[in-house]
Amino acid sequence: MIVAIDGPAGAGKSTTARALAERLGFRYLDTGAMYRALTWLALQRELPLDRGAELAELAQAHPVEFNGEGRVQIDGTDVTSSIRDVRIDRVVPVVARHQEVREVMRDRQRALGAAGDVVIEGRDIGAVVAPDAAVKVYLEADPEERARRRVAERPGIGADALVTDLKLRDSRDAANTHLAEGAILIDTTGLTLDDVVSRIAAIVEERRA
Ligand code: C5P
Repeated sequence: MIVAIDGPAGAGKSTTARALAERLGFRYLDTGAMYRALTWLALQRELPLDRGAELAELAQAHPVEFNGEGRVQIDGTDVTSSIRDVRIDRVVPVVARHQEVREVMRDRQRALGAAGDVVIEGRDIGAVVAPDAAVKVYLEADPEERARRRVAERPGIGADALVTDLKLRDSRDAANTHLAEGAILIDTTGLTLDDVVSRIAAIVEERRA
């Protein structure tokens, strides 16, 4: 069974998807980490980010790997922490907007998702990567709440800069962020992690039955 969790940055996707996968005993796939790792490698190689075909080739040649403990690797390097850098936050949508890149990622995400029960987190999972997912959820939260969560995750960056970054990322990602048909919309503002996870777990159990 595939559970697709989509939504914008700061809506609570990662924390929710990880906790849900643990509760259900499902695997967890973070597709944002794949775009982040590719962006890291492109910057490392000083490849201009406007070259979609070359970026897609780079993605094809260097598939992102996840180990069981949630570590992320590309081209033999562990990039788990470096891909969370604000430098990556700011340019990853520039890489992710190339359709050639998205096609490579989509195929890889489908292959990674195919092996049994999985919670897949991203922006286009329910609509594009796994339109047949048994459960589709779209998380959102109000802008103040999303910015507050980011402040906690990115200490050292001012709150104002984070709000600006979030807005810019929203607008750059808008074309590839989809509320899939049949998705359940959950506004996580004011909800606890446990509230959100329990709600989705109940839907999964219902579908299973
Ligand atoms: O979810 P996260 O913030 O880690 O995603 C990083 C970036 O990767 C997003 O801002 C977006 O540009 C891209 N992304 C995407 N499609 C996905 C997941 C992430 O375009 N399914």
